[in-house]
Amino acid sequence: KHHGINLQEGTELAEIIDDGTGAVGAITTKAGDRIECQYVGLTAGVRPNIDFLRGTAGLELDRGILVNDYLLTSLPNVYAIGDCAQLREARPGRRNIEAIWYTGRMMGETVAYNILGEAVAYDPGIWFNSAKFLDIEYQVYGEVPAKGRDGLATLYWEHAKGEKAIRINYEASDGVVRGFNLMGIRYRHEVCERWIKQATHIEEVLQNLGLANFDPEFYTEYEPDIIALYNQQTGKNLQLKQRRGLEPVLRFLGLGKYRTQATR
Ligand SMILES: Cc1cc2nc3c(=O)[nH]c(=O)nc-3n(C[C@H](O)[C@H](O)[C@H](O)COP(=O)(O)OP(=O)(O)OC[C@H]3O[C@@H](n4cnc5c(N)ncnc54)[C@H](O)[C@@H]3O)c2cc1C
Repeated sequence: KHHGINLQEGTELAEIIDDGTGAVGAITTKAGDRIECQYVGLTAGVRPNIDFLRGTAGLELDRGILVNDYLLTSLPNVYAIGDCAQLREARPGRRNIEAIWYTGRMMGETVAYNILGEAVAYDPGIWFNSAKFLDIEYQVYGEVPAKGRDGLATLYWEHAKGEKAIRINYEASDGVVRGFNLMGIRYRHEVCERWIKQATHIEEVLQNLGLANFDPEFYTEYEPDIIALYNQQTGKNLQLKQRRGLEPVLRFLGLGKYRTQATR
């Protein structure tokens, strides 16, 4: 709100109203509100812009250009990557078109191997994305479904001012951590990904939560508050073992002087 944005939840655009000169003068919402305006921006998602390819002999298209696991289209030696590519078979829990730039980057690497003769299947890895909404950092790693799922427990902490939030999802049955969602706080991709890959227990994650934090120096660390919330909800008495700092992160990830044959 302090950026001058009036976000209206739970409603949609109903009508764009002409100002009498052929330009927009206002809109109405399905909740019945009228908002005076001179400009309307519609952001209704993205879809591959591939109409110019329709009718190309031998090229199979669906919503996107169909590609196999090696990103090869139905034409020999022709690959498709990025927003326009549609995997014939999506990974479990994933979409067959993932229109984000990390996907394009990873697909680019994969296709380079294949063009150079090393058959490498595309592996999207653990889902992640990041963005910045005005000055609010946002990251998601792993499984953070909009409406949760059965068996998925969630630890949700929000700063009193409402501009910082951390959600950590984990299996209710065995505590294995599945996903992270951060708003207004920066958590390291590599650290969160490793915790998810290694099926780390939520309590192990919480006690070492400082490893993930890479907010700028002197920013307040909220990890003690998150542990306190977990303790309050579960009756446990966990203590934060690891605060923010680069050295322990390098050790944890096996980087820098901690690099071993395995992490090379
Ligand atoms: C508003 C917005 C915000 C976004 N925010 C994020 C974000 O925060 N994080 C994230 O990961 N992703 C984000 N994305 C998605 C990200 O931008 C795309 O996934 C990424 O740019 C896709 O790269 P690409 O190379 O596949 O396609 P594009 O970047 O779309 O490149 C395709 C190019 O092909 C050109 N082209 C099209 N048709 C033809 C033709 N017939 N002949 C020649 N050239 C042609 C186009 O002009 C374009 O330059 C956002 C996208 C939008 C629109």
